[in-house]
Amino acid sequence: MSGRRTAMSWLGENGFRCVDGDDVRTGVCGLAGEVPMVTIAQDGKDVDRLSNVSMSFILAIDAPHGVRWRRQMERGGGRLEDFVKESDSLMYDCENKGTPLRTWMRKATLRALNQGSLEEFYSQLEGLDLRNPVHARPSWDMYFLQLAVLASKRTNCMKRAVGAVIVKNNRVVSTGYNGTPSGLKNCSEGGCKRCNSFARMGLSLDACLCLHAEENAIIEAGSSRCEDATLYSSLFPCLACTKLIMQVGITRLIYNSSYATDERAEAMMISSGIQVLQGGPL
Ligand SMILES: [Zn+2]
Ligand SMILES: [Zn+2]
Repeated sequence: MSGRRTAMSWLGENGFRCVDGDDVRTGVCGLAGEVPMVTIAQDGKDVDRLSNVSMSFILAIDAPHGVRWRRQMERGGGRLEDFVKESDSLMYDCENKGTPLRTWMRKATLRALNQGSLEEFYSQLEGLDLRNPVHARPSWDMYFLQLAVLASKRTNCMKRAVGAVIVKNNRVVSTGYNGTPSGLKNCSEGGCKRCNSFARMGLSLDACLCLHAEENAIIEAGSSRCEDATLYSSLFPCLACTKLIMQVGITRLIYNSSYATDERAEAMMISSGIQVLQGGPL
C-alpha cells in the first residue's frame, strides 16, 4: 500500500472521514463539521483543484526513491527505468498534471516521511497533531509572524533579510524591512559600503548605513502607536533596536529565527517586563 493510502486508512481509524476529492471541492460534505475530512490527491492537477478549499491544509507524504523502489520490487517488480520515468513525471513534469507535485510538496503545511515500519509511520502521523485547527487557519501570532517574514522579502540589504510588523489589538500598525534610508541608493545597489564588504556579522556596525526592519517599523508607526503593541520580527532584534523597542513601550516580542540572539538584548527586554516568545521557525 502506498504511503498516501496507508495514511488514509490510519486517518479513517482516527476520527477522519475519508472522502473523494470532488466531494471536498464542491463542499458536498462540508468542512466545518465535527468530523474533519481527508482526501488523497493523486497528482498536481488534483492539488490545484483542492488548494483553495478553505479551512484545509496539505499533508505531504514522501519516501526516498530507494525505499519506494524496494517496495515496488517486493510488490512484483517492474523496470527501474519505468519507475524513474513515472516518478519524475509526477514530481517535475506539469504536462496534463497541473502544478508539479514537487512544488506542492514544498508548500505543504505538514510533512511525513514513510521510510520505516508502519508503526514508525503511524507514530509520525500521531505526532503531527493533525486535528489541530491551527494547521488550517493560523493563530493571530502565527499570522502576523508570517507577515513579518513576508516583509523581510522586500529587504534591499546585502547582509541579511529581516522583516518586522507592529500590531495592536490584532490590527497592523506598521511594517518594515531593512535597507538604506530613502534618498540613498539601495544597499543591494551599492548604497552601503559596509554591507557590500566582507564585514562579519555584528562588526563595523557604526559604518553601516542600513536601517533595521524594527527601526523602520517603529519610525513608520510613531512612538504613541507603539505603546502596549506587539512587535513581530523575522529575526531576534539587535541591541540598538531593543533600546528603541523598550523606549516606545512595546510590551510583546514574537520572533521567528533565534539565529544571532543577543543575550544582552534578551535580558534587557525580559527585565523590563517585555514578553519575549519565539514562534516558528517558518
Ligand atoms: Zn545593508
Ligand atoms: Zn536592529
